[in-house]
Amino acid sequence: MKTLTQVVFWTVQASALLVFVVPFSVGLVVLWAISHFLRAIGLTLAFHRYFAHRAFKMHRAAQFVWAFIGTAAMQKGPLWWAGHHVNHHRFADREGDPHSPMVSGIYYAHIGWFLNDLKHDRLEPTNPVIRDFSKFPEIRFLSSYFFVPPLLLALAMYAIGGFPWLVWGFCVPTVTLAHSTFAINTVNHLFGSRRFDTIDESRNNAFTAFFAVGEGWHNNHHRYQRAARNGFYWWEFDPTWYTIRLMQMVGLVWDVQPVPDRIYAEAIATRERHRTHKTISVVDDIGPIGLELAEDND
Ligand SMILES: [Zn+2]
Ligand SMILES: [Zn+2]
Repeated sequence: MKTLTQVVFWTVQASALLVFVVPFSVGLVVLWAISHFLRAIGLTLAFHRYFAHRAFKMHRAAQFVWAFIGTAAMQKGPLWWAGHHVNHHRFADREGDPHSPMVSGIYYAHIGWFLNDLKHDRLEPTNPVIRDFSKFPEIRFLSSYFFVPPLLLALAMYAIGGFPWLVWGFCVPTVTLAHSTFAINTVNHLFGSRRFDTIDESRNNAFTAFFAVGEGWHNNHHRYQRAARNGFYWWEFDPTWYTIRLMQMVGLVWDVQPVPDRIYAEAIATRERHRTHKTISVVDDIGPIGLELAEDND
């Protein structure tokens, strides 16, 4: 099973190169965008903010639809994904974190853990995701047969638009989406700004936030995981949050967890502390350099 997973994973990764042999058109780029961003919302809205963090409650049909779309991202099943993510927060950047560049190096934190994790692969039945969401047969089905939704997507693309649609609607977006998700585990624990002094290395990064539909505000998220939004301010692009708000308006989502006032107060206090107790570092001698701190100056 492990070998099969690895063969399929690397085959799909390599298949993105087919982009150079199929004709290019604006329509195909739009197809890439729909396939990438819609499945990204499935992952972040359902797998991450709902199954792992319970940031809101959701109608059972919507729960299935988004879980199905998320599973089509080809990042295994919802219970596996969210269960491991809970452990990421529990041990963030310490021994026990399934994917920390600090603990296991960048390659392992980016891809290795996903393909052949010998240390953390088994999830305990007491894991809150397994304990509470495996009672839904349709979620159990997606978790056991996680290869079905991506396979259906690939077949549908080929049936509708032939080889160009298979490449632009499945191969390329599946690869960009894999690295957008994986980058939250690596890039967002290495590069970016820190609004909150969390005990882990989490960072906010506008670039990863764009491709991972809001998940790049990762330092915010590590500070307060329960919130339905990861962008804590209107200027922090978070399309997953806009989707949750829309679903709330039509009654598909309720009990949406806000960012508490005390967290906003802490953000202001931390900014003030960083300003007044600035640690002198080597970069101070060469003048200011354009790091990614802009959003903290607003
Ligand atoms: Zn993290
Ligand atoms: Zn999380």
